[in-house]
Amino acid sequence: MKSEVIAKLRKEIGDGKVHTSDDALDERRFDYWVVSHLQNWRGEELPRPGVVVRPESTEEVQAIMRVASVSKTPVVPYGLGSGVCGGIRPDPSVILVDLSSMNLVREIDETNLLASFDAGKQGLEAEEAVAALGLTIGHWPQSIAVSTVGGWVSTRAAGQFSTAYGNIEDIVYSIEAVLPNGDLVHLGKAPRAAAGPDLRHILLGAEGIMGIVTGVTLALRRQPEERAYSAFYTPSLAAGFDAQRAIVQSDWLPPVMRQYDASEVTRNFRDLTAETANDRGLLLMVHEGPASRVAAELEAVASIAAEHGLEAAPEELGPHWMNGRNHVPAWRDLFERNLIVDTIEVSASWSQIETIYDDAIASLLEVDSIIIASAHSSHVYRTGINLYFTFLARHEDSADMEATYLDCWRRVMEATARHGGGVAHHHGSGRLRKDYIVHDLGETGVSLLRSIKKAVDPHGLMNPGNLIPDE
Ligand SMILES: Cc1cc2nc3c(=O)[nH]c(=O)nc-3n(C[C@H](O)[C@H](O)[C@H](O)COP(=O)(O)OP(=O)(O)OC[C@H]3O[C@@H](n4cnc5c(N)ncnc54)[C@H](O)[C@@H]3O)c2cc1C
Repeated sequence: MKSEVIAKLRKEIGDGKVHTSDDALDERRFDYWVVSHLQNWRGEELPRPGVVVRPESTEEVQAIMRVASVSKTPVVPYGLGSGVCGGIRPDPSVILVDLSSMNLVREIDETNLLASFDAGKQGLEAEEAVAALGLTIGHWPQSIAVSTVGGWVSTRAAGQFSTAYGNIEDIVYSIEAVLPNGDLVHLGKAPRAAAGPDLRHILLGAEGIMGIVTGVTLALRRQPEERAYSAFYTPSLAAGFDAQRAIVQSDWLPPVMRQYDASEVTRNFRDLTAETANDRGLLLMVHEGPASRVAAELEAVASIAAEHGLEAAPEELGPHWMNGRNHVPAWRDLFERNLIVDTIEVSASWSQIETIYDDAIASLLEVDSIIIASAHSSHVYRTGINLYFTFLARHEDSADMEATYLDCWRRVMEATARHGGGVAHHHGSGRLRKDYIVHDLGETGVSLLRSIKKAVDPHGLMNPGNLIPDE
């Protein structure tokens, strides 16, 4: 990093927001991607950014981008670093823009059910701000307490309650962003528009390669009058999928609908199901809304479940999931036990999903060191569903761990693509998945994405090497 660039940044936004200490650079070398954590754990020197800046306003982000654009210095935006696909791997040539000091609630509009936040606002704080007024964003990623609203937009995140409330693209009303040349753009100003292509989608899922999201307005809901739970054992995954499809295609919309295969039932719900599960899967639902609709939905799903051969499971399962749903083990604890683990989320139509499950699990089980290969579904649509695979393998040698990890990813990506599924449901692409997005976009789609990137960021300054496959 050239010292003139750092000097210019100090001049533009003030000394106190420009950081070059070892701690500041070390802390932001990578996100939550397992491979970065594994490499760091085994003592590899992972590159650091050249400088970390912590702007407090959109104007400061513009000033930073102008410095970057004039000096042709690469920029990597950073929310809270909870991304799991390696979207953040800066090197010493990079200005890392940490958005977490931009954390204001800009406005909450109770009439039109809109809330505007600085992009660096932590997710749970954003939710709590609207909850104080009896409202909700309805976006509950498992990482809500360690991610930002700007990060949600930038990764096309999905919350646990998405089946009724939608994914982030359904909740976003407008986006304010700074383009690579420092210009400011506001996209979205009314409930709907037919003013050409929806340009918000250039930023939704862009993972920092198109510009910096500085502000986000989200559409809110009033908090539900009633919440209830239901749980059913599924005799087979196929029967569970059929029941889920019947429920959503009849227009019942439990916000949470999760089907676990038998392996995950044993692993996640052992205490509550040991006596009754008998090696079956589990369909778990959370129902929310006006009390009369919740009551009708409970009755309807019970009847659909019975028609598909599902049987009632212990009632405590729903609240048990709700209370423990955001617990995640630390990578380091697993590495120290010679274990490598990850989750892989894909999606597909109802006609494809079982084949993808069977093929991906069979392929994972061929890996010598594999201990666990399982899946659950967690996001349901009228047209199909996602699957969230988990794999766990054991190796004494950390280089073998990394090789097995990449092999497991390849197997699930290829099994999904082979049967026509979508290879990335909600964690984005990052550096981990970028070579597989061609399965979703096709060669022509990838080249269109490259052309759009070139038009928006002609000098290739924004998060180089991320999201788009190398040419
Ligand atoms: C335990 C755990 C659970 C998770 N659960 C979920 C889940 O339920 N659903 C889900 O969708 N994801 C989940 N994730 C993934 C992750 O939390 C999301 O991708 C989240 O949206 C990332 O937000 P962040 O602010 O931490 O972004 P970061 O990790 O800081 O950044 C992610 C990417 O977006 C870019 N970026 C960040 N902020 C901006 C900005 N303001 N402007 C432009 N680019 C930006 C970065 O350059 C990077 O490429 C989980 C992660 C963890 C660790």
